[in-house]
Amino acid sequence: VAEQHPTLVGVIGSPVQHSLSPLLHNTAFGVLGLDWQSMAFEVPDGAAAEALGAMRELGMAGLSVTMPHKAAVAGLVDELSDVAARLDAVNCVVNRDGVLTGTNTDGEGFLASLHRAAGFDAAGTRCLVVGAGGAARAVVLALAGSGAEEVAVLNRTASKAAGVAELAGRAGRVVEVANESSVKAAVAKADVVVNATPVGMTGVASGEGSSWLVPPSLMHPGQLVADLVYDPRPTPWLAEVARTGATTVDGLGMLVHQAAAQLRLWTGMDPPVEAMWQAVTESL
Ligand code: NAP
Repeated sequence: VAEQHPTLVGVIGSPVQHSLSPLLHNTAFGVLGLDWQSMAFEVPDGAAAEALGAMRELGMAGLSVTMPHKAAVAGLVDELSDVAARLDAVNCVVNRDGVLTGTNTDGEGFLASLHRAAGFDAAGTRCLVVGAGGAARAVVLALAGSGAEEVAVLNRTASKAAGVAELAGRAGRVVEVANESSVKAAVAKADVVVNATPVGMTGVASGEGSSWLVPPSLMHPGQLVADLVYDPRPTPWLAEVARTGATTVDGLGMLVHQAAAQLRLWTGMDPPVEAMWQAVTESL
């Protein structure tokens, strides 16, 4: 009888109602002709263990994991990928015959998005990452893992930057947020600058003026500037950055590519990235 039901995957988070994950994955399942279905599940903070228990009981093939559960799920799965172990954060769970493996596709999605948008290859580049939260950690690890020569971290709370820079090993540096000339020098020599804070995101922070840790006017042509925020499009920061002649990329590509990487892990199939991209662009 089980064969008559679609294979179920889902996304857990709180709040989760605005998650684009089901749209991305259901679009892909449709294009691939798979009888699979993704649903969003509102799971309160602290209840990730129950959600993983339900995943096992219901035989769900996979889960996307978003705020606030990424760290908790890392401690609950049976196995962790190397990247998820380094980050101590899981954004994707794969269920293979009852064994739950936690992985993290955020860094891979970030790199794929820059590659798609600008042909970017991190090898030998100097990078500056603004922020020291979960997204910054994934980006820093991915850049260093792809051979970046330098990965500098700048954060509002200076004490948190060092721990994130450590993920980059010998390439890691800390930029002192309070030292204006250090910030200027770090931006001047960077091939890539990444905003990994929510500043500028609709409903979060204004993103105007003084809340920008890196003023857009410091950028220059030839630089690649990425904002992990994708709502609104363009983000206020990138709109200003674009005036300097730098190349800009917002966070939508990362969203699409991290979801595509999850689909590949669950199904073993090549994700239809263009269709996923189109579905999410239309919905925004
Ligand atoms: P997080 O863990 O909460 O980290 C937030 C970071 O932003 C911290 O470093 C924090 O600094 C900094 N920050 C917050 N408000 C700030 C402000 N007003 N001024 C300066 N710095 C501020 O969040 P996260 O999970 O890393 O996510 C960060 C952003 O990336 C979010 O906007 C999220 O939507 C986006 N994101 C996008 C994708 C994608 O697929 N495109 C994926 C993941 C995340 P302190 O340490 O000083 O508090």
